[in-house]
Amino acid sequence: MNILEEIAELKAKRNALILAHNYTKPEIQDIADFVGDSLELSRKAVECTAPVIVFCGVRFMAETAKILSPESIVLHPNPLSGCPMADMADPDAVAAYRKEHPEALIVAYVNTTAATKTEVDLCCTSGNAEKLISTIPAEQEILFLPDANLGSNIASKLNRKIDLWPGCCPTHNKIMPEHIQAAKEKHPGALVLVHPECRPAVVKLADQALSTGGMLKFVQESDCREFIIGTECGILHRMKKENPEKEFYPLEPEVLCPNMKRITLEDVLFALRDLEPRIELDEAERKKAKAPIDRMLEILP
Ligand code: SF4
Repeated sequence: MNILEEIAELKAKRNALILAHNYTKPEIQDIADFVGDSLELSRKAVECTAPVIVFCGVRFMAETAKILSPESIVLHPNPLSGCPMADMADPDAVAAYRKEHPEALIVAYVNTTAATKTEVDLCCTSGNAEKLISTIPAEQEILFLPDANLGSNIASKLNRKIDLWPGCCPTHNKIMPEHIQAAKEKHPGALVLVHPECRPAVVKLADQALSTGGMLKFVQESDCREFIIGTECGILHRMKKENPEKEFYPLEPEVLCPNMKRITLEDVLFALRDLEPRIELDEAERKKAKAPIDRMLEILP
């Protein structure tokens, strides 16, 4: 039996659901029941009735699945797959900010640890952040964390003042305006799509700033046949698969998140075999971390 057959057999035996983020390795995306961005995967976790979820993405995403689906065993096949940006917003530092700014509404990108989510008021994703923040009264003071690029891009779009946490995604922050300019010169007929975690100067040069889910929808619906993709290159696998007649150009140098690439087929196999490593959360912490996610899903179901 090869590894794919072994995984399929164990998956059936465990009655497991495999969820994978758009940035994971192609072979991981190919064995998943569902591939999506943070928002889409959170929604899947809410609906999930499977006794076992194998979450292929970085740790905060698997924690979100456990927060939303506490009855399921949530397996995170490689515990080294963390998100450096999520780690930039330490829960104690967020609690200290709240003490200094008791009037502020703390909005956290879903890319935060469960511990940090217990200290915030509202969660958002890159796909819904702009819409969500536009529902908050203009006079309300807001802190956005942990991504200063995403927060700043939303602030400019909505033309409102937002206090920004000094964090960023090291992967998207590496994309510079000159990378976009060079790609445009090489492919003058292509539309430029970037992720809103990119620097504001990069977003200004793009035709669209979209979440990965938004990009996939956009390329499918667009009449354009060529696209320059300014996000983690794992998404190209799905884009090419779903749109074989269109051309997709990654930026140079390629944009790679080493953490998203850590999970291997062997990791998934061992996780299904051993039902480890699991995400375990203290029940009081889980409930507290769930409140800002519930608020997000209530405002924008
Ligand atoms: S791409 Fe950026 S935000 Fe996403 S997991 Fe990697 S470091 Fe974190």
